[in-house]
Order: sequence, then structure tokens, then C-alpha cells
Amino acid sequence: MENKMIESHRSFFETQKTKSIKFRKEALIRLKKEIVKSEDEISNALYQDFKKPRFESLATETQFVLSELQYVINKIDLWSKPERTSSNLVNFPSSSYIHSEPYGNVLIISPWNYPFLLSMSPLIGAITAGNTVVLKPSELTAKTSGIIAKIIKNVFEEDYVTVVEGGVKESQELLKQKWNYIFFTGSSRVGKIVYKSAAEHLTPVTLELSGKNPCIVDDTANIKLAAKRIVWGKFLNAGQTCIASDYILVHKNVKSKFIAALKENIIKSFGENIQNSKDFARICTSNHYTRLKEMLTGENVIFGGDFNDSERYISPTLVDSPSMHSKVMEDEIFGPILPILAYENELDLDKYISKYGKSLALYVFSTNKKFQKRLLNKYSFGGGVINDTVMQITNKKIPFGGVGNSGNGGYHGKHSFDLFSHKKSILKRANWLDVPLRYPPYKIPIQWVKKMKHLF
Ligand code: NAD
Repeated sequence: MENKMIESHRSFFETQKTKSIKFRKEALIRLKKEIVKSEDEISNALYQDFKKPRFESLATETQFVLSELQYVINKIDLWSKPERTSSNLVNFPSSSYIHSEPYGNVLIISPWNYPFLLSMSPLIGAITAGNTVVLKPSELTAKTSGIIAKIIKNVFEEDYVTVVEGGVKESQELLKQKWNYIFFTGSSRVGKIVYKSAAEHLTPVTLELSGKNPCIVDDTANIKLAAKRIVWGKFLNAGQTCIASDYILVHKNVKSKFIAALKENIIKSFGENIQNSKDFARICTSNHYTRLKEMLTGENVIFGGDFNDSERYISPTLVDSPSMHSKVMEDEIFGPILPILAYENELDLDKYISKYGKSLALYVFSTNKKFQKRLLNKYSFGGGVINDTVMQITNKKIPFGGVGNSGNGGYHGKHSFDLFSHKKSILKRANWLDVPLRYPPYKIPIQWVKKMKHLF
């Protein structure tokens, strides 16, 4: 089945229809209209999948996607023009251009945690750049995947954009095919499988993976504001956010004040009975629920730690000073559990941050500019924020993505257009002059050739 589908996508791409900017723009406008029309259905599906609060469905999924769509619709003409650049002396007379051309047939594989956003956002980039797309959303948020499939069917010709619903088997079938580009968001474990499959066909890949994101709070930070912003970013989507703070490193002098502020903000945000709050989501799958629950065994829980198996509910939970070898400090947490560790100096910080390799995000709360600068220069990570968390993702002008362990390639806005375009370089020579120096038999003295670097 997949073979036939990719054949039809290939044929569609070969018709050259997607090379037309008008064609792409019209498709993007149709997509926007269909999403606006389906906004309630999308929110309902997200609620059924994991009780995603209505505010979060709008703010972090549909409105986010609509904003990206409007932005690319406004910019596509500008971005797709050949970019003229200067030529070098050795090519005189000539002009030079960079043409953005679509790769062709793109495969996008998405995770469950922001199932609408993380399917639509790369899809918008791939369409804007003129590719055809096969999208495989997550089987674990089946209701949302169903709505995505319906939207795509209503908007695009089947050979242009297709949704394949299903799980590991379907994903692996798709990965056996030859694509011109693969965009994967998910775990590092599956990222390796995707990378290996792509290597078989020398297909370029973007991997948007995971990491253990440190959040550092030093003794010059505005503690109350830091706690408020950290609580928001950590417990949004019940902690199932790839760029959420994974663990806190707080300076020992402000630790108790900071913990008090965290507790105060959790209660302010979700009330005393958090299970009844309409603003707090559930854990998406029972596997992840069990994994998170087991993480807390033997830990010093200083706030929360409440569960409800039938709802897959885990309350916002603070863990004090876990050991480096504990489960919470082993892998990415990806849930509403926040370990808090005290540090005394920058050597202590380094012990933790360096242990986990290149994270997807890093956050630093401090008013000490030299300290901020030292951290940003020293550590390699996907992206970050000074004095806030998660908000880097909202700025379309900065690329979103990981590095090393946490992935490769950045997208959003123009960065998505560039990511899904091959940059074809063209040099256009004029015929009215042809400097004879480069042609054999070589006549110019060797000492002149030794100075040739100035011509390149
Ligand atoms: P996952 O890797 O288990 O699944 C992602 C996709 O891969 C799904 O569509 C799934 O069907 C498919 N898949 C699963 N196993 C497969 C296999 N063996 N072969 C081929 N395909 C397979 O990830 P997930 O659990 O859905 O998502 C959570 C993870 O994603 C977290 O680690 C999180 O940090 C990461 N994530 C990263 C970003 C980012 O932008 N960097 C964003 C969201 C989530």
C-alpha cells in the first residue's frame, strides 16, 4: 500500500504543480480556513485524548498553528524569490543566485505530546517550500490523529498530502520507502531507528528529539517571578513538553525561599484540589503513567505526589535533592515531576549539566549578566531563555531544534522554509568577455598563479 502511495506522490511532484507559489499559497489558505472551522473539534479531540485544557488546546496547538500559517502566507512570495548574491572576481562578468527548490516527497513522523502542533507545524514548512507530504501522526492520541486526517483530506489532493494513521508497524513500513526528506519528532530511541533507515537511501533528516533540560536559578534571580514562570512552563500539558525544565539547579542560599514560591504558585495556578482543576492535563498513556509513578519510589517528595490510576492523573510534584543515580535523574522525566537540587558554585553546576550532554533547552534565572553569558558560552544546547522557560518556541524568527543528543536542524517561520528547501546555487556567466588565463596551454608565470587566491 505504502509503495503505491509514494509512487503517486512522486508522480504528483513531477507534475511541477507545487513549484507554483500561487498553488502553495492557495493550499495554505485552504488549510487555514479548515483549521479555523475545526477548532472546536480539535479541542474536543485533545480533551478526549488526555484532558488537555481548552485554553492550552487553543494557545499551544490551534492558535499557534494558525499564527504560523498566517505568517508563511504573508511571507512566501518574498522567501521563494531567488536570492541574488555577489560574484567573485574570477567569474567576472557574472551574477550569482541561490534558488530555493523543494526536496520533493517528504515524510513527517510526529509524537503525541502536542499532537496537532507537532504534525501541522512541520507540514506547513514542507508545503510552503513546495514539497508533497506523507504525515504519520501518533497512534497514542488517536482522536486528534483522526481529526488531522479529516482536515488534510478536506484540504489537499490525496497525492499531494496524505495522512497515514497507525503505529510502529505503519511507521516502519513508511521508513522502508525512499523519501527526499524525513522530518521526525519523538524520542532519541526512535530517532536512531529513523536515522538508520534514512541512511539506506541517503535521505536527509531532521530529528527533533529529547533531552534533560536544566533550569538554573542563581541567588540574584527574582525568585517570585522565576517560580511563577517555572511552574507555568513545567506543568503546562502536565509536564509533557519536550522543552519543559527537567530539573532545577538552585543556589543553596535561595533554595528554601524558591521552594516556598514554587508551592505557592502551584496552588495559585491549580487550587488546593488539583485533580478537579480544569486547567491541568492527564498523562497521555498508561505506560508513561506507570513509568512516572515508579520514578517517585523512595524519593523525598516535598509537594504533591498524588495519583489516580483510572484517570492517569499525577499531581504537580516536587522532589527534593534526588541522588544522581535515582530514576528521576536518569532520563528525561516528561511529566509533572520536578527535582530540585542545590548548588554552591559553578563547578557543582557543571557536574550536572555536563553529565546529560546537549539538551534541547537550557534556562537561566539570574540578573547577573556575566553569569548568564558564561553559561550560554560554555554549554551547547538547542535553545533557551534567560529569565523564563518554554517561550523561545513562540518566536518564529529564531530556529527551534536540538543539537547532538537532542536532534539536528531548526524550524519555524523562514527557518522551516529553508529547512525543507534545497539551496540550489546558480552562477550566470556573460558572454561578452572571456579572460583566457585559465585555459591550457597555461602561459601565465607561476609566481602569478601563486597570487591567484585574490581572484577567488
Ligand atoms: P516516540 O519516539 O515513541 O514516537 C514518535 C513517533 O514515532 C510516533 O509517531 C510513533 O508511532 C513512531 N514510532 C514509535 N516507535 C517506532 C519504531 N520502533 N519505529 C518507527 N517509528 C516508531 O515518541 P513519543 O513518545 O511519541 O514522544 C515523546 C518524545 O518526543 C519525548 O522524548 C519528547 O522529548 C520528544 N519530543 C521532542 C520534541 C522536539 O521538538 N524536539 C517535541 C515533542 C516531543
